[in-house]
Parts: sequence; C-alpha cells; structure tokens
Amino acid sequence: MNLGTVQVAAGEKQSGFLRVPGCGYELPVTVICGSENGKTALVTAGIHSAEYVGIQAAIELASELTPEEVHGTVIIAPLINVSGFSRRTMSMVYEDNKNLNREFPGAVGGTVAQQICHTVAAELITRADFYIDLHSGDGYEDLHTYAYYVGPVDPIVREQAFQMARRVKAGYLVESQSTTGGAYNYANSIGIPAILIERGGQGIWRRSEVDLDKEDVRRILACLGILEGQPDEPPEDQIVFKEAVYENAPVGGCWYPYLQPGDRFENGAVLGEIRDYFGNLLHTCIAKTDGMILYQVTSLTILKDGPMITYGVLPSSSAAPCAQAKA
Ligand SMILES: [Zn+2]
Repeated sequence: MNLGTVQVAAGEKQSGFLRVPGCGYELPVTVICGSENGKTALVTAGIHSAEYVGIQAAIELASELTPEEVHGTVIIAPLINVSGFSRRTMSMVYEDNKNLNREFPGAVGGTVAQQICHTVAAELITRADFYIDLHSGDGYEDLHTYAYYVGPVDPIVREQAFQMARRVKAGYLVESQSTTGGAYNYANSIGIPAILIERGGQGIWRRSEVDLDKEDVRRILACLGILEGQPDEPPEDQIVFKEAVYENAPVGGCWYPYLQPGDRFENGAVLGEIRDYFGNLLHTCIAKTDGMILYQVTSLTILKDGPMITYGVLPSSSAAPCAQAKA
C-alpha cells in the first residue's frame, strides 16, 4: 500500500506523512499491514485538536500494534487538525476557525479545513472497510463516555456500525440522525460502517481513559476479524438513545450548570443558568424531556449560539427514542 510518504508491504508496519494539497500540512499516519490479505480498518483522532484522550490512544496504538497480530490492514491517523493542535486552538482549525467535523467531505479548492477534510475523505476514509473516530469533550466540555453510530443509512451499514459501537465499554450509545458534516457521518453515507467514540474532556487526558480507548479499538478490531484474539461479548446493559437534545446558549455570559454528565433528570428540571457579570439571571436552561446529560460546557464562559448542554432522551418522554441494546 502507498499512502502519502508511506510505502508498506505485507507483513510490515511503516509511519510517515500524508500531505494536504493546498495548505501543505502533513498529517502523521501509520500503516500496519498483516501478512495475509483482509479488510482495512481506519482509526483517526484529533479531528478536534484538544480532545487529547483519543489522540494519545491513537499514538500508542500506532506504536503498539504489530503486523503479526493484524489480519488485513490497520491505518492510524492520530492527529488530523495539526494546526489547531500546535497552536492549541481547542477544536477549530487555526487558519479559518472552522470545525473539521462540520466540513466533510471537504473541497480541494476550499479553506484549510475543507482541504484537510477532502484529503482525509479521499485518501483515508475511502480506503477503509471500517472506520473508528476517537473524540472527547472539547477543552471546555465534560462528558459521559458513549459512542455514536448513524441511523438513517443503508440497513446493513447501520447494523455493522451498531455492532462496532456495541463493543465500546460504555453504558450509552447514541443513534445519530445526521448523515452529513462529520467524518464518520460521511463514511456511513458512502457505505463504510463507522462509529465515533466519546471519552474524557476538558483538555485532560488520563492513563485510565487512554487505556479504555485502546481496549475499545482492540475489541472492535477483534470483532471485525482484523485483530487476533477472541472478540468479547458486548455488555448487556447498554442504553441506546435514538434521540438527543442539543441545546445552544441563546445568550452569552457566565454559565452555571447544575448537574454532571451521566446525571439523569425529569422533564422540566433546571439544568443550568446563564448570568451576566453582575450576577443577574439572563437565561434558565430547562429540560424539555426526561433525559441524561451526555456532555456540557464546563467553562464559566458561554458563547451566544455555541454549545451549552446535550442530553439523551429517556424513553418516558417519547414514543420510541430509547431501547435496550440487543447483541
Ligand atoms: Zn470531538
């Protein structure tokens, strides 16, 4: 396989860089080729450059996986937003302040973010049979571990992605209704089963979280037959949210969340408040359904029209938003 500067033969592992035409950025990549032909799995991280748990997990997986344990090929790209990482801009691409996970499949002649998305889509995603994208809460967000797959796609693709998500060590899964913008959404829309794992946040990476991300990837790859080892049975008690509420802040100011990610609440509960610099109440965030907090902003700063809180809808609030996962 030739990928950027990487030339790798069966039974080899090589690392190098994939150049983004236009801006000229070089994305680090490692290709691990088993000695036997087989399926190709792609693992990416750092689409959001302050989501360090996934970045560190991908760096370590690239170092640790060997051709001897791989059947087929594993491609690992641990840092997609390279300019955001080196300049510590949280999620956004330094040059255009765009969120890469809103710009897929990108454009050759677009902004830097769109150029990066185009290269990732054309050179990485389209080579893959399966795709795992590692995320966290952003530098100003805390979250409860969960994984996304996409609902409104080809049923076979959806089921394969669902079975991948089932192997994530998380109590909750979210069936996304979006088929555009994000890397994993794009992959699913072109027939490549793909999931997004969310673990950690607030610009922190812990050894325990990195290890759990690595275990998830290994468990999924084993389940797909790409990595040696007996695939584990998925946990019995996962809850699937088929509906999530994404609340943006209607006004900027100071943000005071009342609950923690993972907390459950009832319809009508107060989830947080926005106040001005004198302590005057500007907005009260009221739950629209029974739910569980997936992630929320933890910085005192809250931006008008920016993310504030996201929760999964619990079943008592809707006809069929939530189901007990079945293996
Ligand atoms: Zn992210």
